[in-house]
Amino acid sequence: MVRVRFAPSPTGYLHIGNARTALFNYLFARKNKGNFILRIEDTDTERSKKEYEIALIEDLKWMGLDWDEGPDIGGEFGPYRQMDRLNTYRDVAERLLKEGKAYRCYCSREEIEERNVKAGKNASAGYDNRCRTITEKEKERYEKEGRKPVIRFIVPERDIVVDDIIRGRVVFESQHIPDFVIMKSDGLPTFHFAVVVDDYLMKITHVIRGEDHLSNTPKHILLFEALSAPIPQFAHMSMTLGPDKTRLSKRHGATSVRAYRQAGYLPEAFFNYISLLGWGTTESQDIFTKEELIEKFSLERCQKSSAVFDPEKLLWMNGYYIRKASPERLLELSIPFLKEVEVIEDNLSEDGKRYLEKAIALEQEKIKLLKDIPYHIGFFIKDPVYEEEAVKKYLGDEGKRVLSEVFVVLERCEKWSVSSLEEKIRKFCEENNYKPSVVFHPLRVAVSGKTKGPGLFEMLEHLGREKVISRVRRWI
Ligand code: GLU
Repeated sequence: MVRVRFAPSPTGYLHIGNARTALFNYLFARKNKGNFILRIEDTDTERSKKEYEIALIEDLKWMGLDWDEGPDIGGEFGPYRQMDRLNTYRDVAERLLKEGKAYRCYCSREEIEERNVKAGKNASAGYDNRCRTITEKEKERYEKEGRKPVIRFIVPERDIVVDDIIRGRVVFESQHIPDFVIMKSDGLPTFHFAVVVDDYLMKITHVIRGEDHLSNTPKHILLFEALSAPIPQFAHMSMTLGPDKTRLSKRHGATSVRAYRQAGYLPEAFFNYISLLGWGTTESQDIFTKEELIEKFSLERCQKSSAVFDPEKLLWMNGYYIRKASPERLLELSIPFLKEVEVIEDNLSEDGKRYLEKAIALEQEKIKLLKDIPYHIGFFIKDPVYEEEAVKKYLGDEGKRVLSEVFVVLERCEKWSVSSLEEKIRKFCEENNYKPSVVFHPLRVAVSGKTKGPGLFEMLEHLGREKVISRVRRWI
């Protein structure tokens, strides 16, 4: 049974790169009818925050991911927060000590650096394995001095081969790896140790993570071996770069899932787009449903070269999914945005909802972000915000004069429908020898405040007689 995990550290909002790691693990698990596990790596006690864990869970759920085991739902192999597993790490470290695969080290960082310099090496060259061979007497002396030891793992001397599903065979030489710390003097495990103990005890079969962890993998393999644990298969995904091909960072604009969520992206657009970061099918298809992605996903088709995050393409894809969504759903999703700019108050009546849904339907083609919905439909409810340029261009003396003439037509229009409005207004243009644009533009600006929007007659019909008449009257 395939068992994979996503193991974020709750030190900030979910980053796009990590969201992709989560997504690929999820797709792989679902494709193979395996388990997807959420594990919180919170041993960096200074930077880890509960609020970030909550936010991570919210954002993963928003993306459309669900997991079979995790801190919020528990599971057979819990706990799923590393800080709740401290006793386990201590026990396993104790076992390694007993088996002679680890030792207590009493050296301070200053001492290590000093010895490195004396040996003609760089101060930060790494540990010289001194405490591997100290006598019982020395140990006693250090204990008496009150030194708090760390526990170091004895790195055996040999080549370590990583058979990575994405990167192929990578060989590391262990002679470059000094005995490394597995338990710190404060009793907390190091990242390497906690990851391996958890993967072992949680029966993880595939470790799918970012390429930045490839260099950690030899250490992990040595630890798995020392624990006589099965070694999971590794798949290290390429890094995600910004459009300028440098590592995706704040400089490229929003990099957290939350920021995209707040800007009004649809979860399915985000899900679809992120799945293409370093993965694809042989055909150049880019629109996939979740079910298709689950069916088609494979680690073998993940590319070795870096993925480039292209916000333009994501925006385009969002527009695609918005055009496909039902107006009911778009209204539902845009309510927070509409409230934020006070287009709507707290409770919408059913009629109010239908009215807004129709307004959204009229503008759906043009909407790219949920956040823009208030701009597109706000004037259907509230007084228009008149754009300065539009007023200057179309509601000068000439525009106002035309409006006062067409006003009469509007007032006399008995049937307030698209066809009857269109017929009356076009007839008016013909009779007065006006080019349609001479009438349409001022009318549009007078009722909506803008030069662009839905079809003029659809817009007039939907606004209703009362709003149209009173808005036009204002300009004559
Ligand atoms: N907490 C690690 C990270 O966020 C996870 C490493 C791993 O997946 O093994 O990068």
